[in-house]
Amino acid sequence: MTTSTVLTTTPRFIAPAHPLVGPDERAAVESVLRSGALAQGAEVAAFEAEFAEVVDGRECVAVNSGTSALHLGMLAAGIGLGDEVIVPSFTFAATANAVALCGATPVFADIDPETYCLDPAHVGSVITARTAAIMPVHLFGQPAPMAELVALGQRHGLAVFEDACQAHLATLDGTPAGAFGDVAAFSFYPTKNMTTGEGGMVVCADPVVARRVRLLRNQGMEKRYANELVGFNTRMTEMAAAMGRVQLRRLPGFTATRRHNAALLSEGLARVSAPVVRPGAAHVYHQFTVRAPERDRVVEALQADGIGVGVYYPTPVHRLPAYSEDLDLPVTAVAAAEVLSLPVHPALLPDEIDRIISATNSAIERLGR
Ligand SMILES: *Cc1c(COP(=O)(O)O)cnc(C)c1O
Repeated sequence: MTTSTVLTTTPRFIAPAHPLVGPDERAAVESVLRSGALAQGAEVAAFEAEFAEVVDGRECVAVNSGTSALHLGMLAAGIGLGDEVIVPSFTFAATANAVALCGATPVFADIDPETYCLDPAHVGSVITARTAAIMPVHLFGQPAPMAELVALGQRHGLAVFEDACQAHLATLDGTPAGAFGDVAAFSFYPTKNMTTGEGGMVVCADPVVARRVRLLRNQGMEKRYANELVGFNTRMTEMAAAMGRVQLRRLPGFTATRRHNAALLSEGLARVSAPVVRPGAAHVYHQFTVRAPERDRVVEALQADGIGVGVYYPTPVHRLPAYSEDLDLPVTAVAAAEVLSLPVHPALLPDEIDRIISATNSAIERLGR
């Protein structure tokens, strides 16, 4: 092998996300497997009770995904045919899909250019007689402006839901994400700040809504074969819940590491602005998102350097074929064209953070200005 071959070899790939699953998760799952009780039972109940502690004691119902959590939470809160629910377009499609799956219409509103969360002023401008709810997304791990959005909801008699799928342990003025709205949804997909493989949690302010979520999760049954309504099977497995209980105990450590990594990236990046944190917000850095005008070329260069950079999200949801709405959301359009997310997950090694910083600085110097 010649020297030049060695030098042109792609450096070790730095993954965009890396779930940290260790011996404690394995032991917990194995103990469930040994017990033989595999579907929704004692582990799920314990996981729900423990998760409640991180959302101000609100009642929690575990389900099989974040999408199910959004869907069942809204159905249980009464969202249905003819209702409009205001959502951001700069989000993962599941936010809007959950609205559409209720038979309701997602109405897309624009975002704040610095935090990428819903802009309350624009939300106010798209409220109609049919608007039933507002669903902000705590995007990238930063809470949306909840005081303003909850006040807007109260003024217009609207429910407020939270897509908290990226915001485990994030807070705003001391209140945890998930404890602001009528219903909130978390995801435990492997790329999220904690994981159960697949899984989700519905957080309910009202125990009556929580009971309805429990029914919808299990074919409409509380008592076996006494179905009270038409429901789904969106139950969580005992293996997932056992894993979730361990991950929840590790979550404060994961979060501290994400914040530490974000601080190192912010300090080292010379030619892009670090993510803006709203006053009073505690960001949990599900993603570390920056922007560059020549974004696609910067992404290509970083990928060639073995950096697992991501683009969340390249197409606003209202422009996806599933929705294809002819709607002008200028702030969303610019964000979708310029954002890129650098690895920030807690599995990063110090030398990997250095590599991310130097590769990003040099790529942006060459291409992104
Ligand atoms: C991940 C995610 C979802 C969906 O969660 P799943 O567990 O993948 O179904 C919904 N909304 C947002 C903003 C997400 O990031």
